[in-house]
Amino acid sequence: MSGPADLVGFSRGMYSNWLWHRPLQLLVDAGEGLQLALGSSVYAPSVLAVTHGHSDHVLGLPGLVAARRFGKGAQDKPLTIVYPDGSRGVRGVRALLDTSYAGVSFPITWIGVGPGASVPIAKGRHLEAFAVDHTGGGPALGYRVIEQRRRLRPEFASLPAAEIERRARAGDREAMTEAVPHVLFGHSGDAMPIPVDLVRHADLLVHDATFLDVADRREPIHAGTLEALAVAREAGVRALVLHHLSIRYDRGTALHMLRAQTAESGFKGAAWLLDGSEFWPLSQPSQVRSERGKGRSQP
Ligand SMILES: [Zn+2]
Repeated sequence: MSGPADLVGFSRGMYSNWLWHRPLQLLVDAGEGLQLALGSSVYAPSVLAVTHGHSDHVLGLPGLVAARRFGKGAQDKPLTIVYPDGSRGVRGVRALLDTSYAGVSFPITWIGVGPGASVPIAKGRHLEAFAVDHTGGGPALGYRVIEQRRRLRPEFASLPAAEIERRARAGDREAMTEAVPHVLFGHSGDAMPIPVDLVRHADLLVHDATFLDVADRREPIHAGTLEALAVAREAGVRALVLHHLSIRYDRGTALHMLRAQTAESGFKGAAWLLDGSEFWPLSQPSQVRSERGKGRSQP
């Protein structure tokens, strides 16, 4: 279920950034133009996770909220907005909603969180916030979606299948298994490289990849493409989407370089660059084709 077949998004640093993960019903960030791009899917998101309050990540929120409230559709559908507690950018957008639409109540639950906070988003799944290095002074978060899975405890592994089945039916299922958290999805937001342990064996990682060469970096607030690929390789993630590539680079040259970097990085999963609204394949075409599957629809 991971990979761009399930994703719609937009990424351009300083302009607009957002990602809609359809199977998880999760929106990450709300850059400008979001509601236009979502079109008839504007009512689909139940949860919006805001990584930080920079304008290119939050200025699409008033448009999204208004489109849902005043459009023809599920106008009362609740939207939960998880955001970094104390974010000035988010506070500004809330104030805009309160003043521009005075007297209108929006079905929004605002949840201000810090690193380590956990918000249930579906049965057996929760959204967890983690700290990232990006804004300097203001709060910035990455997010991951964790699913609680169960597996057979190692001491029962040698039992014949029929015996395991018999004991499970006799009511020993809980005692014979142990909880294993599985990372379905990780998103760095805008950030320096995130800790590998947070996204180990994740189905999908979306990571900041602003600089083709970290020599171009002035402040320690964005990752380089090689750094993002290294996180993905070391964590053993299955699929990787790089985003937020600096607008300073010529796109043709950048794609050529990124494909070479991906091949040399040792990352074995499928990889893409999200640039504007396009997902450009970076890894082997055969690998990418099977991951893309059908049903990908760009608005
Ligand atoms: Zn930012």
